[in-house]
Amino acid sequence: MKVRQSSTLTINNGFTCCTKCLAEIGPAGKPWKQSAALTITKVCNIPGSTSSTHPQVELRHFSCPNCSALLDSETALPEDPFLDDVLNP
Ligand SMILES: [Zn+2]
Repeated sequence: MKVRQSSTLTINNGFTCCTKCLAEIGPAGKPWKQSAALTITKVCNIPGSTSSTHPQVELRHFSCPNCSALLDSETALPEDPFLDDVLNP
């Protein structure tokens, strides 16, 4: 079975790990985003956004807590849960 991996995350010793520094983000097969370092920016504060952007829309950056490498990003409303991303071993 082929292991699905992304360019920023890999599986090592049963953990979802940062590809860059191999820091363990969380158990493989479980959503990892809540264990990552989270930075939230309001999209309306980003240069180039327009007045048609909903004022509450936020850009979430999920980064490695060890080396700060960007692992994933998503846009959502504040009340939206994280879009679960799971790497299966
Ligand atoms: Zn890292």
